[in-house]
Amino acid sequence: MAIYKKCIPTSYYTSIYEIDYDNLKKQGITTLLFDLDNTIINYDETKIDVKRTEFLQELEKDFKVLIISNSKKKRVSYAVGHQFSFVSFARKPFKVGFKKALKKLDSKPSETVMIGDQLMTDVFGGNRIGLKTILVEAVLRKSDKIWTRINRKLEVYFLNKIKKKEPLKFDEILREYAKKYE
Ligand SMILES: [Mg+2]
Repeated sequence: MAIYKKCIPTSYYTSIYEIDYDNLKKQGITTLLFDLDNTIINYDETKIDVKRTEFLQELEKDFKVLIISNSKKKRVSYAVGHQFSFVSFARKPFKVGFKKALKKLDSKPSETVMIGDQLMTDVFGGNRIGLKTILVEAVLRKSDKIWTRINRKLEVYFLNKIKKKEPLKFDEILREYAKKYE
């Protein structure tokens, strides 16, 4: 299947706070995988603060929650503390980290959502392994690091491709997100 098709998220929200979690629950979703950097905290922050920890703990009443990050263990374990399960150095969009996460939680792809700020890692990777994927706006885009900046250039390429090949889906899901590149 063409790569661009795997880069289309199931849905898009401006932040993790806007996501319709009740609806996910109704759809039979049991498991939420969150990216860390620029999804929960920005790259300049080192720790998930109390407010955001409480928000995620609230979600844990209804879902299994795990943080899956391409960052190194040192950064991820410090940011997450002992509050949540995590997989660090996940190498998204490769499947290995996702498989590790699903195994850890004993969850199936069909009941799991990947939530993250990057089309080329979180969405592409999640879709490849059969998860639902939710794209969110970066917490603070100017804190993106070099690899992410490169991925953002790829994003533009694939957004244009999706716009051309899947105009209806682009309009429905990605128009708002793509605006910042106009
Ligand atoms: Mg990220």
